[in-house]
Amino acid sequence: MLPEITQLLQLQERDVRLRGLQKDIKDVPLLQQRAKLQLAGDQGAVDAALQKTRDVEVRIKAVELDVQTRNTTIKRLQDQQFETRKNDEFQALGHEIQRYQDEVRSLEDKELEHMEELDAAKKELHAAQAKLAETQKHVNDDLKQLDERAVNLQKRLEETKVERTGLAAPVPAAALELYERLLKTKGGTAVVPLENGICGGCHMKVVQNTLQKLKQDETITQCEMCGRVLYSGG
Ligand SMILES: [Zn+2]
Repeated sequence: MLPEITQLLQLQERDVRLRGLQKDIKDVPLLQQRAKLQLAGDQGAVDAALQKTRDVEVRIKAVELDVQTRNTTIKRLQDQQFETRKNDEFQALGHEIQRYQDEVRSLEDKELEHMEELDAAKKELHAAQAKLAETQKHVNDDLKQLDERAVNLQKRLEETKVERTGLAAPVPAAALELYERLLKTKGGTAVVPLENGICGGCHMKVVQNTLQKLKQDETITQCEMCGRVLYSGG
């Protein structure tokens, strides 16, 4: 095998690695985004539970206000009852007071029911918050790992670039130029094996002349179909 081919294959191996690393680096923000999305469901459950708790609290407040209003009325009626000298008015006021007292009792029963609802809603909220905290912990771990991964990938990218520069330096200018042109135009594969007369790049059978040229191994041989540099792949 021509020494240039060996050099170009080493170079190509680094270029493949560089592309992979660049892709992996580009994927990191997407993976971070995906990790954060795990929180959305749990956050939604916390928000819903919180809303439910507030709704019940509002209902309790309303009932308390109703009780307060009735108690004020009862007090007023009792004052009137105390002052009256008329027996029938006294009795009528007594019935009215009784009616309001019954209403207060029924409101207080309702308040107790709401209190139980509030307890249940708070329990639900605490459970949802605990689940969110747990998920947040996992997500934080994931994000930390991804940060480390990004740093590591960047380091390997820099190292590989240095290696590549070192490997490119001794390659003859014409061969390097051909290689770089093919790398850009041929989807990242510039040097390919020829196996059973078939080009490893375009998968076409090469002509006899190309086979001969490769066998002689005197100059760089290119596939006459796709232009890629060939080497004997067995
Ligand atoms: Zn080809």
